[in-house]
Amino acid sequence: MAQVTHQQSVRPFLTEVKFDIDSSDRNLSQVLAHYPTKHLTQLQLMLHESLKHFMEQALIEGRKALPECLPNPPVGCVLVRADSIISRGYTNAPGKHHAEAMALSQVEGELSDVTAFVTLEPCSFHGRTPSCALTLVERKIGAVYVALLDSDPRNLGKGIDILKAAGIPVMVGLMSEEAKQDLSPYLLHLSHN
Ligand SMILES: [Zn+2]
Repeated sequence: MAQVTHQQSVRPFLTEVKFDIDSSDRNLSQVLAHYPTKHLTQLQLMLHESLKHFMEQALIEGRKALPECLPNPPVGCVLVRADSIISRGYTNAPGKHHAEAMALSQVEGELSDVTAFVTLEPCSFHGRTPSCALTLVERKIGAVYVALLDSDPRNLGKGIDILKAAGIPVMVGLMSEEAKQDLSPYLLHLSHN
């Protein structure tokens, strides 16, 4: 059972919100559903809507990747500082930027106050391009929200592990159903490199 401290994740929105997540693939709204509504503060509800908004934007980015990205999955990413999107990215043609790398290439400096919203688990391995998980660590990203775990056996949680090992707060499962609709046709028998 992983515990995510949102205080560390999206600083602008949160005070002391903690969720217990017993499935890494559980949608945040399902997590929230376990809490009686009367116990949800207005702040928490605002937070949930804000998080969904940013992941929706990442999903919109991902849809721009097709068909050039194939056979890699059409992933999207937005980088958020305070309550603003500062950069966007999607999977480019094979051998070129993945979504995270494209978004990171447009911002300079340390990103410890920046939260990344990515529709698929960042890749853990160096394929045709460097590992996005390692690149996020190198850029000192503040926190990462991931919609869906990558079913590619070379990844399958390893990208999440890299981020967590570096002390970066990671939350998996935000808008996972929507991400599944967009991505699942491209995840089976495909490689994310
Ligand atoms: Zn990648």
